[in-house]
Amino acid sequence: MSDNIQPVKVLSKTTWTPNLFSFTVTRPDSFKFSAGQFVRLGVNPSRLAYHQQKRSTDVPDEDIFRAYSIVSSPYDETLEFFSIVIKDGAFTSQLQHLQEGDELLLNTTPFGFLTLARYQEPVAKDLWLLATGTGLAPFLSMLQDLKTWEDYEHIILAYSARSEKELAYLDLIHSLEETFGSLVESPAKFTFVPIVTREKVEGALNARFPQLLISGELEDFAGAKLDPEHSHVMLCGNPQMVEDTRNTLRDEKGMVMNRRGVGNIAVENYW
Ligand SMILES: Cc1cc2nc3c(=O)[nH]c(=O)nc-3n(C[C@H](O)[C@H](O)[C@H](O)COP(=O)(O)OP(=O)(O)OC[C@H]3O[C@@H](n4cnc5c(N)ncnc54)[C@H](O)[C@@H]3O)c2cc1C
Repeated sequence: MSDNIQPVKVLSKTTWTPNLFSFTVTRPDSFKFSAGQFVRLGVNPSRLAYHQQKRSTDVPDEDIFRAYSIVSSPYDETLEFFSIVIKDGAFTSQLQHLQEGDELLLNTTPFGFLTLARYQEPVAKDLWLLATGTGLAPFLSMLQDLKTWEDYEHIILAYSARSEKELAYLDLIHSLEETFGSLVESPAKFTFVPIVTREKVEGALNARFPQLLISGELEDFAGAKLDPEHSHVMLCGNPQMVEDTRNTLRDEKGMVMNRRGVGNIAVENYW
């Protein structure tokens, strides 16, 4: 095993839907990261208790690694992850079976630039975090970091899923302002915008991000205006959503990608 790959132990698992779950693992003492970063997680299917209990045959005996954003804050003692289950996906069709006590592998080099420290201009005022599905993960990490609440005046978290039951972490989202905002002197105002694209749900918007930008519904719900002079906008999840939303922000709002610290938009594609 290479130096930067360490075994971690599964401590808990939460199942949200048949295709969505979260889990926590032990955090190696030396492992440091910034809110918004991702790691490479590994699983060896043949070592999962599930397969050993079932005496499954034809289970791959090899380490399979994938990129995963960290849900937990940089100050938590454990590491949390939020995962999709892809039918026939080499990694997640195995990972879905994990149980408390199983061992995973963690590459302890944190990756990624979807972090708030990247923004130099414009200066922090309002922060728009736009996620589809498990793309919520890095934003939960940022929102559990006190500095985020200190640095901004208004934070808008817009989280889109196909159905209402696929909106995970709602209790945590609704408790963030009280748990973290209340600990800093002049905290950001927080607005949560739930979006469900394939069902009509009371209290949730019902269209894709580009449409919600063009119609003005996202800004109306948030009670704020997207403005190239003072908005930081982060997009994470489905690459089609990222591309279409980025183009809409450019064409409709005059926003530009953040490069070398300057600009409004920062993105992370999950595939
Ligand atoms: C920077 C980065 C961070 C990531 N963080 C996460 C995370 O926090 N949680 C997570 O579940 N996945 C995350 N992913 C995706 C993850 O790395 C794997 O692709 C995913 O676990 C599926 O692996 P697989 O081998 O089962 O299927 P793969 O063969 O990797 O993917 C098969 C197909 O499944 C779809 N797909 C993959 N990931 C997702 C997803 N998350 N949501 C919806 N459809 C998807 C795509 O169409 C993809 O082509 C991240 C990817 C990147 C690049």
